[in-house]
Amino acid sequence: MNILPKIKEADLVGRGGAGFPTYLKWEGIQKVKADKKYVICNASEGELGLFKDFYILQNHADRVFKGLQLAMDFIGTKKAFFNFNGDYYKKLKLQIDELVEEYEERGYQITIFREHPSYIGGEETALLNAIEGKRVEPRLKPPYPSDRGLFGQPTLIHNVETLYNVADVAEDKFEKKRFYCLSFPHKKGEVHHLPANWSIKKILEKTNNIPDFPYFVQIGGSASGLVLNSSQLDKQKMMGAGSIEIYKKSTDPRELLLKWFSFYDQESCGKCTPCREGTFQLRKMVEESKNIPWQKMKPILEVLEETSFCALGKSVPVPVYSFLKNVLKKKL
Ligand code: SF4
Repeated sequence: MNILPKIKEADLVGRGGAGFPTYLKWEGIQKVKADKKYVICNASEGELGLFKDFYILQNHADRVFKGLQLAMDFIGTKKAFFNFNGDYYKKLKLQIDELVEEYEERGYQITIFREHPSYIGGEETALLNAIEGKRVEPRLKPPYPSDRGLFGQPTLIHNVETLYNVADVAEDKFEKKRFYCLSFPHKKGEVHHLPANWSIKKILEKTNNIPDFPYFVQIGGSASGLVLNSSQLDKQKMMGAGSIEIYKKSTDPRELLLKWFSFYDQESCGKCTPCREGTFQLRKMVEESKNIPWQKMKPILEVLEETSFCALGKSVPVPVYSFLKNVLKKKL
């Protein structure tokens, strides 16, 4: 069976955050001539507010392995790596090891790679470095992993949800849905599998999660995601990774900035100066000032956006500016 036309017709896109069309990745790697090729399933999930990969693996690991096998068959390899957020692997070890063994008996070699949970470890080229035992930092692109990836060989890298979807596409079960993580101020987070084209408002309504208090949300990751007020949710669809975090409107802005900047400061891999120094300075500035030093933060945010080497540094201004504009109704 040639699955590529089905993947194209299903309009499958990557669910790690970037939303790149899956068929283009598959088409590209198919054309590259090489003795060895690899597939990597990335279950890193190091962004705040995301826990859907854990949910999928806990409930549907067999479907993810099926998608991984289809990807291996398509590019003509028997070798794959499964990059696990170490905390996830600890909890799911038994069922994952059983699946690895089952596939081994069928001639597939799936190597489990465990990493300390981190945001940058989820970046495709940083992940290649991690598996190769090198410093965990992004590589310059191009070359893209589908041309020169793991150990210099063409490598197809997909998120857990994408491979889950590949299994459904192969069996004509794919329904154009996606997984959404919902986080709240005072209750446990939830995961829902719902149509990909629903607005944020509709997702909250249909899951009975419209708050009974004044609120705002952050979508597409609780660190790097966009902040929106409650009147903007009717038309807004999900962007990036599938998460919605609900905050009380009374949330202390300082607390929020510290949450974001502490995360970025901790997750910065240190490769480039703007991000290494900028995220540290932002955190320190907010920690040490009585009032939020918005004007002092501005030049650092601009430098981060314009000169950071990868998406982590470039994304720092996104939550800050959208929070200012949409919730505080201020301009810098
Ligand atoms: S932007 Fe940050 S995470 Fe990305 S390469 Fe530079 S230091 Fe590393």
